[in-house]
Amino acid sequence: MKKRRISKAINIGGVTVGGGAPIAVQSMTKTDTKDVMSTISQIKELEECGCELVRVAVPDDEAARSLSAIKMGIAIPLIADIHFDYRLALAALTAGVDGLRLNPGNINQPDKISTIIRAAKERDVPIRIGVNAGSLPKKINPELTTAQQMVAVAMQQIRLLEELDFGLIKVSLKAFDVPTTIEAYRSIADKIPYPLHLGITEAGPPRSGIIRSIAGVSPLLYMGIGDTIRISLSTHPREEVITAYEILKSLDLRQYGPTLVTCPSCGRAEVDIISLVAEVEEKLKYIDKPIKVAVMGCVVNGPGEAKDADIGIACGKGKAVLFSRGEKIGVVEEGNFIGVLMKEVEDFITI
Ligand code: SF4
Repeated sequence: MKKRRISKAINIGGVTVGGGAPIAVQSMTKTDTKDVMSTISQIKELEECGCELVRVAVPDDEAARSLSAIKMGIAIPLIADIHFDYRLALAALTAGVDGLRLNPGNINQPDKISTIIRAAKERDVPIRIGVNAGSLPKKINPELTTAQQMVAVAMQQIRLLEELDFGLIKVSLKAFDVPTTIEAYRSIADKIPYPLHLGITEAGPPRSGIIRSIAGVSPLLYMGIGDTIRISLSTHPREEVITAYEILKSLDLRQYGPTLVTCPSCGRAEVDIISLVAEVEEKLKYIDKPIKVAVMGCVVNGPGEAKDADIGIACGKGKAVLFSRGEKIGVVEEGNFIGVLMKEVEDFITI
């Protein structure tokens, strides 16, 4: 793992992004922003699974008018996503949002950008310049690769903000194409001091979207690039947050909630390990404290992995050996596996 790129720290509604702070996990609501109650309720669900920053789409005046009520109903910073109409950005700032996301491909008149910047500066509200490969401005050198075009557009916008003495900047360069995304982020990382928000845009339905996101985001994180992430999936945004934490945990960049070590099962398994794992995973879902739990299926690899976890169980025929903090602490009869394991987990996290 390469040393992390240390970017300039910015504060988004109390969450530090950049400057070596923990990589923040973001998501975006999928409700109609005008429906205040549904939007608040979805954000609350996201808060419960560890989302640290949430973005809402602001497509029209009515959505902009809902922002202050949404802001009052939630505990995490609220970011307004604005396309096309700069007046909506001004309305969002007046409503008290903690951050703005602008797509330079959609608001590209410098005078309108300047108006937004002045209003954001008065309120110390950071702005993400969110460049998407699919919506680049038309006037861009066609001889450049898509990644180079994305970087060029972002640099243009950054210079404009800097000329207005605005430095609360975060940048994203998202594409559906993984090599394009990696190339764009790698290229801009050395050119600017600002924090980078990572993601693969429109990554897809859960299975392929998760794989595509991991393929795009992980190499960048491994290179030390990235200050926040959002995994875009065509499903409930809770899955985006869970996936983001799984990626960060796998790379040892964050500790959050349980890490499950499980045997994939094979001809040696003497219990239905797949059902057992599914049940344990469900029960662990809302734990936010870091804990490594192993559920293993036989005596070959089972005891070693179970011993290595905080709490582990190595199942055999009709019985399982239970481990806590590397020590064997008992033998459990089949039928009690989950109850006994979860009791140990509860004890571990409440100490
Ligand atoms: S732990 Fe045992 S049952 Fe599970 S995959 Fe490995 S050898 Fe097979």
